[in-house]
Amino acid sequence: MKIKTLLTAILFLLLSACAGSSSAAPSPTPVIAEVADLPQVTFEAPQTPSPEPFQFNLPTPGAEPISGWRPPLYPVPWAMSPYDHFYFIRPVAADQVNWPIADYRYGGIFFAQDIIHTGIDIDAEKGAPIMAAGPGTVVWAGWGLFTETPTNDSDPYGLAVAIRHDFGYQGQQLYTVYAHMDEVIAVVGQHVESGDLIGLVGATGAVTGPHVHFEVRLGENSFHFTLNPELWTAPPQGWGVLVGRVMDEKKDTMRHKEVLVISEETGKTYLVRTYGSGGAANADPYYNENLVLGDLPAGIYKLIIIYDEEKKPGQTWVEIFPGQVTYFTFEGENGFDSTRPPAPTLEFLPALPATPTPVR
Ligand SMILES: [Zn+2]
Repeated sequence: MKIKTLLTAILFLLLSACAGSSSAAPSPTPVIAEVADLPQVTFEAPQTPSPEPFQFNLPTPGAEPISGWRPPLYPVPWAMSPYDHFYFIRPVAADQVNWPIADYRYGGIFFAQDIIHTGIDIDAEKGAPIMAAGPGTVVWAGWGLFTETPTNDSDPYGLAVAIRHDFGYQGQQLYTVYAHMDEVIAVVGQHVESGDLIGLVGATGAVTGPHVHFEVRLGENSFHFTLNPELWTAPPQGWGVLVGRVMDEKKDTMRHKEVLVISEETGKTYLVRTYGSGGAANADPYYNENLVLGDLPAGIYKLIIIYDEEKKPGQTWVEIFPGQVTYFTFEGENGFDSTRPPAPTLEFLPALPATPTPVR
């Protein structure tokens, strides 16, 4: 009986300890007194915090499910049309979340209307490897990329790497930029291949959390010369890219309009916003787009464009094909068109903004 009483007392003590500040728990004082009155019992559990008698083995936890995983990318360079240029791999592996954070795509705005996002932000854990998106030579490694001052440790890009690639486009040089690193591994002058480790994901510079800010620059290694990275990185296998030019009836592009893309099969809804030429956002020389959504498994999608509070949203169906660009234009009340731009007759040159714009 005494042993049973003791065990009850121990259990009660344990439960009392777990109960914390619960007001319903009775005072343990009488029980402690009872235990103290049992000197003949050698098992001194109340004085022995060792959990041995109650120890049990927890199963080894498996890897956290990676909800953001998606298929590996098509091999680069990938181009199903003569005007596509999926030359780069993503800088973060497919077993990490390797596509843009929805609110931090190219051309988005943060904090103020005049701060344009000149790249895409890819969410990843601190310390995740950052890989070179293509072969080239490292031309920047460290602090100060935005201000071009290597000693500037308050630079918004934080620790960053820029690569001048071994190939260009339409006679112009291509660069990629990887910002906010925790640690830079590449060094200036180093030649890297696609997939080479160049740094680790971090949160240096102007950030709210660890991620990679990834830019593609055409022509010059400057944030005035960026293009949408989602038009330059190969899509995941079996997935496609939606590209659009959203305009009003006068054919002027409309900025910051919300576009819903809804999968007919799964009902999954993607929200993407249009960007404008102006600021530091530039359109692709061929597509002249102001919307890109590169995260779409092949299939049928409903497109809803909310372009005017007083008008009915534009709606249509589009099909996304594996490894391809689906292109559309929208002209307010005139609706949708899927005709691609005509073949170019002039050499492509990206439109450039007149004034510098801060970058996140
Ligand atoms: Zn960014």
